[in-house]
Amino acid sequence: VAVGSTLLSGQKILMQFGGLKALNEVNLDIVKGSVHGLIGPNGSGKSTMMNVLSGIYKPTSGKVEFNGKTISGSTPSAIALGGVARTFQNVQLFGEMTAAENVLVGLHHTFRSSVLDVIFSTPRYRREEQRARERAASILEFVGLSDLAGEEARNLPYGKQRLLEIGRALGLNPELLLLDEPAAGLTAPDIKELIAIIHKIREHGITIILIEHHMDVVMSISDIVTVLDFGQKIAEGKPGTVQNDPKVIEAYLGG
Ligand code: ADP
Ligand code: MG
Repeated sequence: VAVGSTLLSGQKILMQFGGLKALNEVNLDIVKGSVHGLIGPNGSGKSTMMNVLSGIYKPTSGKVEFNGKTISGSTPSAIALGGVARTFQNVQLFGEMTAAENVLVGLHHTFRSSVLDVIFSTPRYRREEQRARERAASILEFVGLSDLAGEEARNLPYGKQRLLEIGRALGLNPELLLLDEPAAGLTAPDIKELIAIIHKIREHGITIILIEHHMDVVMSISDIVTVLDFGQKIAEGKPGTVQNDPKVIEAYLGG
């Protein structure tokens, strides 16, 4: 697929929780190779969208296509293995495992070895294990965590935990990476590092959907921005245009 074509499309996505329409027939087109910002006031449906796209929620109606195939209705792990990886708004790491082990957990999902290969430690399994370790090391280097590979995740500074989560998602070798408020709770230097890493990820051809509360971050990184308010898309376009849209300003001031 060429750069500029649609990688993922959400079509009239309705996500209803009881009487609440967290997403009200939202269309979303994600262009391959882009960084697509998703913004909106608290409770506007951003995380719900991530959960629908990653298969955690099955939409009440509407569908999600990835590379032209319907993925809504598939399990989260099938969607992840199919090329859509994500991080969560709240860090979800294995705290007592090391940074390296956290990345390896993601990689094991891509293994082809059978249970018997593992039990008997066959050459196939040992080869895969070796390759996984090398890959985990290069991913940790990519997110600037080589020096902390052996540290338990829970002992890492918060900013590093967030980077480790991104590393674990990269272990799945995704085509699309969903980042839910990756800068939340980070210090200014941490945010700078995060921005640099997001740029590096996109240079590798990975498409990114970025939910972010820090306006300057999302506006400086994104090619296109979609704005949600009360579960509806109220604006979409280039950062500079969206930022000055009266509907967007109103949503933020009113919300
Ligand atoms: P955002 O990420 O934009 O802050 P969310 O997508 O988390 O917003 O939430 C959108 C709305 O949907 C909120 O009103 C929230 O309370 C509601 N919501 C989200 N998830 C659920 C759920 N699992 N059950 C009920 N309501 C939910
Ligand atoms: Mg959220």
